[in-house]
Amino acid sequence: MSESTAAFLYLVSGVLFILALRGLSHPTTSRQGNVMGMVGMAIAVLTTLFLAEPSFGGLLLIVVGIAIGGTAGAVIARRIAMTAMPQLVAAFHSLVGLAAVMVAAAALYAPESMGIGTIGAIHGQALVEMSIGVAIGAITFTGSVIAFLKLDGRMSGKPIMLPSRHAINIALGILLVVLVVWFAASESHVLFWLIVLVSLALGVLLIVPIGGADMPVVVSMLNSYSGWAAAGIGFTLQNLALIITGALVGSSGAILSYIMCKGMNRSFVSVILGGFGGDSGPAGGEDMGDRTIKQGSAEDAAYLMANASKVIIVPGYGMAVAQAQHALREMADKLKEAGVEVKYAIHPVAGRMPGHMNVLLAEANVPYDDVFELEDINSEFSQSDVAFVIGANDVTNPAARDDKSSPIYGMPILNVDQAQTCLFVKRSLGSGYAGIDNTLFYKDNTMMLLADAKKMVEDIVKALDR
Ligand code: NDP
Repeated sequence: MSESTAAFLYLVSGVLFILALRGLSHPTTSRQGNVMGMVGMAIAVLTTLFLAEPSFGGLLLIVVGIAIGGTAGAVIARRIAMTAMPQLVAAFHSLVGLAAVMVAAAALYAPESMGIGTIGAIHGQALVEMSIGVAIGAITFTGSVIAFLKLDGRMSGKPIMLPSRHAINIALGILLVVLVVWFAASESHVLFWLIVLVSLALGVLLIVPIGGADMPVVVSMLNSYSGWAAAGIGFTLQNLALIITGALVGSSGAILSYIMCKGMNRSFVSVILGGFGGDSGPAGGEDMGDRTIKQGSAEDAAYLMANASKVIIVPGYGMAVAQAQHALREMADKLKEAGVEVKYAIHPVAGRMPGHMNVLLAEANVPYDDVFELEDINSEFSQSDVAFVIGANDVTNPAARDDKSSPIYGMPILNVDQAQTCLFVKRSLGSGYAGIDNTLFYKDNTMMLLADAKKMVEDIVKALDR
């Protein structure tokens, strides 16, 4: 295949990737977006194969690699629970980082095969690109592994604050720049592996101080890094597809991080500096003194909602954990049949990743027209009879609106307390992901429905049938 044909086909795959991103921006077009992404990737892979014209042995290795990776990917994708998606993404990013390190190492040890010179005489520009790519790749690798361990609960979600960590990080950063410059001038293999070592350490040190609540932002940020690492390697290999894809991943990851920070009213810098959030607080709420709650049953909830004219459902992370979305749709259908107006309100950071709730509701065939974003529905709570909060906590916490000393102060919240009655489905009085108590549980117009979300909604459906 000629270079120009390959360039054209890479461009086609790049356009398909952009269309895929556009498709993924809405639930109705997301499947189509996924298909476009897959076709784009197939074109890019096949073009690379035809362009490289590998030997039979090489081709065999590639096919075996694709078969192993593809099988592992398919099995994991089928088995993974929606709630475990953030850690899966983190685990996958670590592989992207590792791949960037390995490609750079391959380029260093076999430069002829990549057309960037010969051993001892690799082009200067390629050495710079290679070293930057390998540094970002190694940081992404260890950073993603730590993010995976924290998100998966294999390591405490609490920020680990090393003494003088900023000074250590700055010193390592400077050392890294010196090593990159020195390596580009000398092509020393020892320096290359030193760059890898320092970057691996930096990846760990950058991520350990970041608390669990900020981890999804970090995953998206690492996603962005892995994209830039791929783009860097793309320049080394002069591979247009890698440059385009890397830049797309890099910029979309950065935009996603920005959207999440905005949804939580946190600055990107404060996330990176770490120290916020941790494991969920203990069940029971520590400093709530002798305040009492009003506890209700499924029958109470069914009675209140069946007699309401408007109910707004607010799903959160707990709904995902309980997999209560199907039962919830059944409940909403029954209420609608009884003439109740039912809407769903989605907070931009409800759950553990952007769009988490939309995906679950779509899975349960909730009509898109019933689902509203925060800014479109927040004014309606004051005119609704019931706000049905299911497994959500932080996204409703009035501390974000009223308490200037609260760590989540300034985060926009869903004004569920303005509904005539607020029903809260959760298992305990424990805090949400940010580890902050929620005073709403103790308000006069709140009724706590303390149970597993799925069980409670199934019981409400039964009570509605009676
Ligand atoms: P929260 O984590 O604040 O609260 C979820 C609640 O669900 C918990 O309080 C828990 O209470 C309850 N719960 C857990 N399991 C069950 C179950 N089986 N049945 C019933 N209830 C259950 O979730 P929100 O969705 O309100 O907020 C999301 C949080 O994640 C925010 O802090 C946000 O900043 C953060 N975040 C989200 C991102 C995103 O992109 N979506 C990105 C970054 C951060 P209990 O244990 O008592 O049952």
